[in-house]
Amino acid sequence: MKIKLNRNTFIPIVRLSILLLFVLFLSSSGKFNRVIQDFEKLRKQMVQEQLKNRDIKSKIVLDAMENVPRHLFVPKELQHLAYYDSPLPIGLDQTISQPYIVAFMTECLAPKKGMKILEIGTGSGYQAAILAYIGCEVYTIELIPELADRAEKILNELKFNNIHLRCGNGYEGWHEEAPFDAIIVTAAPEKMPEKLMEQLSENGKMIVPVGRVNSIQSLKLITKSGGRTRERDLLSVRFVPMVK
Ligand code: SAH
Repeated sequence: MKIKLNRNTFIPIVRLSILLLFVLFLSSSGKFNRVIQDFEKLRKQMVQEQLKNRDIKSKIVLDAMENVPRHLFVPKELQHLAYYDSPLPIGLDQTISQPYIVAFMTECLAPKKGMKILEIGTGSGYQAAILAYIGCEVYTIELIPELADRAEKILNELKFNNIHLRCGNGYEGWHEEAPFDAIIVTAAPEKMPEKLMEQLSENGKMIVPVGRVNSIQSLKLITKSGGRTRERDLLSVRFVPMVK
């Protein structure tokens, strides 16, 4: 059959195509909204079951964990696992920490709006986003350029303007910006990194997992006061190594 296109048939076809495109758009954006709502639901559930039902009490930490979209910081193919009670691979042999560990370490620092915090090991950028959501001024250092670039991209997309990211060796700290009110180290050095201790302000707190790779490390809380440091062992943990 031959269809002859003249003005009388052409205009209805164009109209119908526009209508079809519009319906397609609506249905796909509806699906998109549903997926977003599912992630919100999973996030609320994660906060209740993995954080509140354990021992995380800080309202601002719980609030940040409930609002920062963790699934955007993990590889696409693992997004459905983003709110599980476990760490996840982020490529290049690195991991994003388990939600509970992120919340626990954040709570230990007693973060407040305006606090200047140094993070060693940007990784996915998720921990930096949690601190930035609270309103801290975050300085974060990542050794692997590819991870630094990826984290920068997502943090920019989420419009965080209080995160300063640098690609470099975390053992050196960030001399020009020191001292810091708090330091969070999210890779494990074998020994306490001296330069980081020096860059901690008076009354500052540092949280750091110390120990060898492939063995149990100790998550330590360091406090500095009167020029002296105090060290407390909080938890046994397993982090990727802080590379020399
Ligand atoms: N905080 C991250 C998880 C960190 S995984 C998050 O929220 O996703 C540990 C990270 O530390 C890895 O990305 C690793 O590349 C980085 N790292 C290891 N040694 C380092 C060093 N010496 N300096 C800076 N970053 C380092």
